[in-house]
Amino acid sequence: MLSVKHIVKNYKTGDFIQKALDDVSVKFRSSEFVCILGSSGSGKTTFLNIIGGLDKYDSGDLIINGKSTKRFKDRDWDSYRNNSVGFIFQSYNLISHISILSNVELGMTLSGVSRKERKEKARDALCRVGLLDHANKKPNQLSGGQMQRVAIARALVNDPDIILADEPTGALDSVTSVQIMDLIKEISKDKLVIMVTHNSELAKEYSSRIISLKDGKIVDDSNPYDGDDSSVYSFRKTSMSFITALKLSLTNIITKKGRTLLTSFASSIGIIGIALILSLSNGFQEKIDEFERDSLSQMPITISEQAIEMSELMSTSDSDEYHEYTSEKFIVPKDDTLDKVTHVNKITSSYVSYVSNVDKSLLGGISYLRSTSINVVTYDGDDYQYVNNANSGIDSYSWSVFPDNPNSGEGVVDSNYDVLMGKIDTSVPGLILVVDKYNQVDKNTLRSLGFDVSKNVNFNDLLSKEFKVIFNDSFYQFNNGYYMMGTDYKKMYNDDDSMSIKIQAIIRCKKDKEMLSVNSGVLYTSSLVDRIIEVNKNSKIVNDQKRSDYNILTLQKFDDSATKESVLGYLGDDSVPSYIMLYPKDFDAKEKILSYLDKYNDGKSDNDKILYTDMANMISSLSGSIMDAITLVLIAFSSISLIVSSIMIGIITYISVLERTKEIGILRALGARKKDITRVFNSETFIIGISSGLIGIGIALLLNVPINDIIYKLSDLRNVASLSFGHAIILISVSIILTLIGGFIPAKIASKKDPVVALRSE
Ligand code: ADP
Ligand code: MG
Repeated sequence: MLSVKHIVKNYKTGDFIQKALDDVSVKFRSSEFVCILGSSGSGKTTFLNIIGGLDKYDSGDLIINGKSTKRFKDRDWDSYRNNSVGFIFQSYNLISHISILSNVELGMTLSGVSRKERKEKARDALCRVGLLDHANKKPNQLSGGQMQRVAIARALVNDPDIILADEPTGALDSVTSVQIMDLIKEISKDKLVIMVTHNSELAKEYSSRIISLKDGKIVDDSNPYDGDDSSVYSFRKTSMSFITALKLSLTNIITKKGRTLLTSFASSIGIIGIALILSLSNGFQEKIDEFERDSLSQMPITISEQAIEMSELMSTSDSDEYHEYTSEKFIVPKDDTLDKVTHVNKITSSYVSYVSNVDKSLLGGISYLRSTSINVVTYDGDDYQYVNNANSGIDSYSWSVFPDNPNSGEGVVDSNYDVLMGKIDTSVPGLILVVDKYNQVDKNTLRSLGFDVSKNVNFNDLLSKEFKVIFNDSFYQFNNGYYMMGTDYKKMYNDDDSMSIKIQAIIRCKKDKEMLSVNSGVLYTSSLVDRIIEVNKNSKIVNDQKRSDYNILTLQKFDDSATKESVLGYLGDDSVPSYIMLYPKDFDAKEKILSYLDKYNDGKSDNDKILYTDMANMISSLSGSIMDAITLVLIAFSSISLIVSSIMIGIITYISVLERTKEIGILRALGARKKDITRVFNSETFIIGISSGLIGIGIALLLNVPINDIIYKLSDLRNVASLSFGHAIILISVSIILTLIGGFIPAKIASKKDPVVALRSE
């Protein structure tokens, strides 16, 4: 069944060639007990390893069941070792970190025998060598003789045709040796047993045939055989399942828990860093979004005559091409940067009615700011005084319009302001005074309203003060062909046509809504301006202005009709508002309002589009993009530690490969493919990768607790740092992938190890 023909094997060490086998030819019977005798270095082990397919011959042929092995591929040798050969070594060669039973099972695991059958066969084999009671022990808990019996059980379990034993009793005392020899003799009844020994007495006593080797040549054969080989050759191919590889690695890793844990921890540091950064930026983004929902969403959407185009602003950059000096000498007129990014909104009456048709239930307030001058005179007991209010200006004493609440429910003002005194009625012309959180109002504002600013002003004094709105016909005087503002405030104040108004209420921003608060100052109800326009649009000055091409206050000629329109608007003619503010009820309402406003622009040319300004969005997108930038920079830094850790994993895997060289040899002797060896080490790095990922995420989650405490103490924000589930999964995957990459080269190195060399290693 097995025949060796003219086999030559040389070992090269540098230039030196060592002849290990020199033209060896011999045939074996399918069941006999052959002893190979010979002094040390005569080539016995080499002979056995070549017969067992562990080592390759240089020339000649090994015929197995009539089939030449000249064309054998690695896979064929692997399955030959797994199916047909059982090895017994002098040094037992058991894998120390798995149980006796698992050691015996290993060969069957490689050939994919079912778990149940494996256990059964392994138990049978252990029973045969008398070690069933020790099945769950680890190899180092057994005596030498017992370990050799385990090795015999392992060699027998797959029921191979050939048992190869290399000095199996070499390390045993004589009593135990005899027991082992009995066992091997018993086996040889139905198998070919080839045993290497240098003990000729044992050989003579037990074997049926003795072959003597000397300097790589057969010098004697006590019982030569020359039959023919006819049986048909076929083996089951071997392949280690990923689960087996994982189990092998897991048990190995468990034997060095401390190191694995430390490794995983060290390589998890990068993951911890990134997880913390992500959870913080994530959390802050969430807080910003929340803030935008809760607070910022009530900031008004404004539509004014000029809007800044944010997209243009971002993309505007001067051409950086250097202008070469040429013979032509000229200066290039440069566009005003602000002009380029400013969009002129042509607010028309049809646009105003489009806006006013927005679903009212979405709004918490709406205000139209008109440029109509509001001429008010007050009396402080001594003097009559013109109340400087620079409507729609930006001075501290500028007045602004109080938003109307289009719904019956709580409006934007109700939800954000406390009324300190008085009652607001927007249908009545009047004023509302806004104070800041210290109950302060700008001195100039108070002075212009006619109050003594050398001392605090009493609420009651504020609310009881009377103001007179002066209409055009008594405010403007016609003189020598042009109009001018009157100065006789006493007469105006006491004119029957003037309209008396009061400060209706004093309001202050609610404590937690300070983000929204406007500056302190004076607001007027929309009905005040409505009333003024109602009267003034028919006034003499407005009618005269309509007919004139000149500004009848300054006598300047109008450049265009728009200028005339704006002067008429200022004088009180009915005109489109210059500013519209829409206060959304909440975040969802805001989205709907914005899409309603966007719809107006559909199909319109750029010039006719009306752009709005969404301050809240500007604030949050700005803070969002700053955060994104910071996050990226921090992640880049932490990634360095990830790279460092994957290099570290590579080194550690390499050390593990070195440590497990013997195990690699054993696995190869049992029929494991190169691929299976790679798999064993890849699954080891996989385990480290997944555990470092999990440790990293776990520690990051733990660290988030004190981090949140600190943030809460510093900023009153609760639970800012929170790691999203998706990020956790991604980070664990990254950890696995990086460690796999790190361990890839060492795993390849492991698979390339020569099984003979691996088995010789200690
Ligand atoms: P034995 O088992 O009879 O003691 P071996 O088969 O182990 O002898 O070795 C036969 C010869 O081949 C010895 O001279 C040994 O030094 C040499 N040899 C064995 N393995 C190697 C190797 N891997 N590299 C170089 N020389 C080797
Ligand atoms: Mg030897």
